[in-house]
Amino acid sequence: MNLNSMYTDLLESIINRQLRDISSTPCEYQSTLASVAKTSRLFNDLANARLYRDIVVYDDDNKSIVENDNCTYIHINQLGKFVESLTYQNFLKIRSIELHCKSNFSKYDYSALYEKIGDFWTHTQHNIEFINFDIDNIRRNQTILQFLSKDCYEIMEENDEVESCVGSKPSKVWNLTNWSVLAAQELTSLPLWSPNLKTLDLFIETIIGDVQFPMQRVKIPNLEQLNLNTTLSTQCFLSLNPEVPNLQKVSISYSHSFNKPPINFNDYQMVDFDKLTDLELKFNCLHSDCSCINEFYHELSQNSHHFTKLKNLSIVNHNSKNHVRNLEQYAFLLSSQLSDLFNKFTSLEYIYIRINEFVKNDTCKIDWNSFNKSIQMLPSLRKLIIADFFNWWAPSIQLTRTLMVNTCTCQKCHTIKSLFQQMAAYDEDNHYTHNFDNYCFDSTQIMMPNHIDLVKKANSKFMSYLINHYKSQFHESIIYSMSASYFREHDNQLLSPFKTLFMHGQLRLLASSLKRGNTHLKVNFGGISI
Ligand SMILES: [Zn+2]
Ligand SMILES: [Zn+2]
Repeated sequence: MNLNSMYTDLLESIINRQLRDISSTPCEYQSTLASVAKTSRLFNDLANARLYRDIVVYDDDNKSIVENDNCTYIHINQLGKFVESLTYQNFLKIRSIELHCKSNFSKYDYSALYEKIGDFWTHTQHNIEFINFDIDNIRRNQTILQFLSKDCYEIMEENDEVESCVGSKPSKVWNLTNWSVLAAQELTSLPLWSPNLKTLDLFIETIIGDVQFPMQRVKIPNLEQLNLNTTLSTQCFLSLNPEVPNLQKVSISYSHSFNKPPINFNDYQMVDFDKLTDLELKFNCLHSDCSCINEFYHELSQNSHHFTKLKNLSIVNHNSKNHVRNLEQYAFLLSSQLSDLFNKFTSLEYIYIRINEFVKNDTCKIDWNSFNKSIQMLPSLRKLIIADFFNWWAPSIQLTRTLMVNTCTCQKCHTIKSLFQQMAAYDEDNHYTHNFDNYCFDSTQIMMPNHIDLVKKANSKFMSYLINHYKSQFHESIIYSMSASYFREHDNQLLSPFKTLFMHGQLRLLASSLKRGNTHLKVNFGGISI
């Protein structure tokens, strides 16, 4: 049978669906595709189109990312081989490359990849989204953007054609749809007007020397996503005052510290908040006589109308600063300003809140009832994540640990309570090392009391351990915050039964009061999803 005569779409369906269905894991699917690619030229084309489309490079720390069928996963140890064997034809099939590695202990080097891609781009224009999540590598070495632009300036000097390079002639960086900018100088020298630039990430941590921002406004015509990851990034972007007519997703970080001007809504006039689908506000204010955070949210809520598009909203206390006045501003926001805010953004589907991760503080209380009422104003809300629930919210609404785990009397909870007390005692014997590798549940000891006494040190420590474990799921790197998922569920088999205890306790009541008729809503309390 001549394969070439078969319909291409039938082959495509074999490649894209049927092979996937018979493979038990994404990795198995990946290697099946690689084998199929060797069987005929047509299969080679089709399988490679799939294999090279979205590339994810990962290390051992990021193993959990290997779960999505749509990407091809390459372990960092195989990266050299991949780069070496990458052909021009296959390069043209790449749409995106993501590096999910952490250069803290091992130092990874991506320069061979940068060079290879840079070489291909001397011959052709081909747009690629390139995201490097390896922040330590970025800080020590360089971004692909810096690598490519350095290349571009060298050519500039040789040919003495400064004007033509920054003018109409497309530079190599135009092939990148996603830019990460680390220095303020880059903002003034890079061709920001690139028609292909979709996502701009700013990580400016210090400014060295004088930076002269251009007087004329730059238009970034197709920019869809803007992540301002530090206060300086936000300040630089505001100084640039560019036109961003197609912006859809914005993340703003700003700290009103002692030498900075307050947060001011009017500074952000280039952003059309009504057109946004995603908004992440990471603010803090360190002045005891200021309410700039509340003023910003007040201005944002003004002129409410029902044509806003916002679906995802994140409210974050930047760097979790716990100055009393800062927390008071957030308490006021959550208790008194949300209804105006939700009156404007009626289509919200996702809300992420993280105000106080560190301190158990109940001096600035959140008014749960009014928070509850504002949440009920959002009929489309599907996910509410309160990442810092156990630190600030629980004490603030007088929910004690005892109430959280001791209210249910069902048989299942009874067994879990025994397990809780046994593990707590085991941990105590091991000097609270939280190492349960050799722990084994003793079912004959089921006669434990049906009430976990949290005054007992061992129980109380085990409870803290559990809470920290659930909460640790939010400790993902916050770089590229909106490109990365905030919440990656850790699967610890041993600790998962205890979620039932929380879910059967008072948290369930809190969740149901928030849901009130909205059956699709999932509430996540500090890592426990109900
Ligand atoms: Zn302020
Ligand atoms: Zn129960």
